[in-house]
Amino acid sequence: MIIVPEREIADLMTREAAFDAVEKIFGAMAAGDAYNFPVVREAIGHEDALYGFKGGFDRAGLTLGLKAGGYWPNNLETKNLINHQSTVFLFDPDTGRAKAMVGGNLLTALRTAAASSVSIKHLARQDAKVIGMVGAGHQATFQLRQALEQRSFEKVIGWNYHPDMLPNIEKVATEAGLPFEAVELSGMAEADVIISITSSFNASLMADHVSPGTHVACMGTDTIGKQEVEPALLQKATVFTDEVAQSISIGEAQHAVGQGLISEGDVHQIGAVINGTHPGRESADQITLFDGTGVGLQDLAVAASVVDLAVAQGKAIEVDF
Ligand code: NAD
Repeated sequence: MIIVPEREIADLMTREAAFDAVEKIFGAMAAGDAYNFPVVREAIGHEDALYGFKGGFDRAGLTLGLKAGGYWPNNLETKNLINHQSTVFLFDPDTGRAKAMVGGNLLTALRTAAASSVSIKHLARQDAKVIGMVGAGHQATFQLRQALEQRSFEKVIGWNYHPDMLPNIEKVATEAGLPFEAVELSGMAEADVIISITSSFNASLMADHVSPGTHVACMGTDTIGKQEVEPALLQKATVFTDEVAQSISIGEAQHAVGQGLISEGDVHQIGAVINGTHPGRESADQITLFDGTGVGLQDLAVAASVVDLAVAQGKAIEVDF
């Protein structure tokens, strides 16, 4: 069995490798070659922790396994550890034997950033120049850094509920040599691409904040009750997602579907666009919206990729198990 500790991931995994792994797995999901298992998420009644499993099997890539972990809200204050903790376990699909154990914290950030970037690659207008960020927390920096590689962006604009956090994303823009401007939500009308990545339970981005032709990637809503955008925006947009079942139950589409504004059939798998079985964007003034809910197969795909990199670079720890 191979172990790739969390401390090795930053040196091993690249944004390009994460992007490729996520794009490929979204395609496999839409082709019916890969499927996610039902998610388990429990409040364990200890340390206020939420713990669970996200697993799946990719028949094409022969990747089987799960990500175990969750959220420990007291970690940072009392133990100087980050609050989100996860580990990926991979198994040999031919025998069921444990194959690898991989640190999942940084990989989660990278696979989530890769998902919105894959959506930008396949759905944003080619001439997109302004990218807008709604959110400026930990994950926002990853989303922005990777998104900037998808188009020739000339400017970053940002809004955050807590304005004191905006320097987090300004720093990413500056490092990429781009100007940054803090805006009101109405200012998002200037953006050609918008990424929302907040932990909000109420809509921030309204339908009239978004101009025709914009691509919106909603990445924060991954639980019942969370919400980042007005449901009317989904009604105006062509909606894509990683997995339809998650989108309508725990993703951003839960609200628009719940209010009867759209139906399950209006939500399309991004993998179908990747595979060429859905046309994706069809006009320059169409609004496209990607509801990125985060699936276990994304975690397995990037973990399998980092195991390959660790083996190739002699950094994998092998144990007899
Ligand atoms: P974080 O705590 O670092 O940042 C939270 C962000 O939400 C900040 O920008 C904060 O200002 C904003 N926010 C908080 N309350 C708000 C409110 N009431 N209205 C609007 N904005 C508000 O968290 P993070 O690590 O950046 O994660 C952000 C979200 O992304 C979380 O909800 C997390 O569960 C989700 N997430 C989703 C995926 C996925 O695959 N879709 C993966 C990782 C994280």
